[in-house]
Amino acid sequence: MQNTDTSHPQTRLLHTARPLPTPDGAPVVPVNPGVMRASTLLYADMATMREVHRRRAEGERNLSYGRRGTETAYALEDAITEMEGGYRTRLFPSGLAAISTAFLAFLAPGDHVLISDSVYGPVRKNICVDVLDRMQVTYDFIAADGSDVEEKLQPRTRMIYAESPGSAAYEMCDLRRLSQIAKPRGITLAVDNTWASGYLHHPLALGADVSLIACTKYIVGHSDVMMGAAVCNKSSWARMERTAHALGQVVSADDAYMALRGLRTMPVRLAAHAANATEVATWLLGRPEVAQVFYPSLPTHRGHEIWQRDFTGTCGLVSVELARDYVLELASAEGIDAQDLVDRFVNSLSWFGLGASWGGFESLVLPMNMEAIRSVADWSRRGPILRFHIGLEHPSDLLADLESAFLALRSGVQRQIP
Ligand SMILES: *Cc1c(COP(=O)(O)O)cnc(C)c1O
Repeated sequence: MQNTDTSHPQTRLLHTARPLPTPDGAPVVPVNPGVMRASTLLYADMATMREVHRRRAEGERNLSYGRRGTETAYALEDAITEMEGGYRTRLFPSGLAAISTAFLAFLAPGDHVLISDSVYGPVRKNICVDVLDRMQVTYDFIAADGSDVEEKLQPRTRMIYAESPGSAAYEMCDLRRLSQIAKPRGITLAVDNTWASGYLHHPLALGADVSLIACTKYIVGHSDVMMGAAVCNKSSWARMERTAHALGQVVSADDAYMALRGLRTMPVRLAAHAANATEVATWLLGRPEVAQVFYPSLPTHRGHEIWQRDFTGTCGLVSVELARDYVLELASAEGIDAQDLVDRFVNSLSWFGLGASWGGFESLVLPMNMEAIRSVADWSRRGPILRFHIGLEHPSDLLADLESAFLALRSGVQRQIP
């Protein structure tokens, strides 16, 4: 590879972790690494086996047994490490597996962890309740922007877990500031970097120890593979790697191949998602039915200046708060619940699929119950929140679809008032 120091990250992502022809190696090679499926790997003789195991114990990544991955996974690990500027990367069968392994790696009974209010719902609902409570690890939620972290620190705080932008409302958090608080105290800073998918934002460069990515989203990019990644700096690597190994976390070579294939086009897909989403977000800002649009690159988004400073782009996630009074008025005029109106809005969309996850080529919509996924911020007085993933459809079709869904919101009232 040439010009690694000055080339654009988009260029490097296309050329990294590839089998390149060399005069003294293979003279002719395919563009992509092969799919190396293996559980058993065979050694030439006992001396080789001992030597491989010795070097593995010293931290070398080498072929020894399928549970530790094969060349296909290594290529994906290397590409993600290069993209994020990390030391090493470990792959997991889902984003949630990467996250729960980080909690298990850095926390022990009696420890305390601070968790950002805006984290991905299952961290609060499943990891806290089903893992931390049983492990006797205590936790407190901090404001999504991290502003109250100092007052919530305890002597036994061993980890700060943040997500920026946050899930559903994309609250921005100043990771530099968090790391300045965490570092001198020996506290591990782990960050969910799924929104930026390792490309638009580099938490490790801002002082985080582990960057966790749900590859399921934009890296895979086609809604057909589950995968997670933990990108580590040098100090977090051994803990993370040893814990992942103890838990038997492994991905298949076929899935690694698919994720690497997705990764190559991620920068251009992200740019297209961002262009569409910016158009939709701007259009939504002008709608009278909408109280607020959540999209970090909009100057009206809270914490926009952090996005401007720390991020190189944006993605396809747009959330809106429908105007509460408007929705309540329409609902009472029809004698139905506000929820029924939201259901009608969602059901009347035709290009937006209804389903979990995001990051594929297609548009999605999902109503969010913010009160269930926030405890520091009070969302009880807000209007209904809808999260859109803006896909790669032509934006004119998406805008027309949204327009007719807004019409459907008041269709019941119009029928009553001829
Ligand atoms: C989807 C998601 C995850 C979990 O990823 P899975 O691969 O679905 O387990 C974690 N964090 C964020 C922010 C996500 O959006």
